[in-house]
Amino acid sequence: MGYIAVMGCKACGACRDVCEVDAIIFQGDKVVSIDYEKCNLCMKCVKVCKNNSLIYFE
Ligand code: SF4
Ligand code: SF4
Repeated sequence: MGYIAVMGCKACGACRDVCEVDAIIFQGDKVVSIDYEKCNLCMKCVKVCKNNSLIYFE
């Protein structure tokens, strides 16, 4: 199973809207990590982040 690294989030909020299982962990408006107890690696957040702040590693 892979994981999603978070780098340089600009707090735009786009990923918050697409994650159907509420697995993205925020500190204020910035993404700090992913909750893998909930995340199903659907990649919607990775695709929606125009800032390329969410990077999937296999
Ligand atoms: S879409 Fe990207 S820049 Fe926007 S809040 Fe999510 S991780 Fe941050
Ligand atoms: S990969 Fe899918 S389930 Fe996991 S945090 Fe991103 S949008 Fe949510």
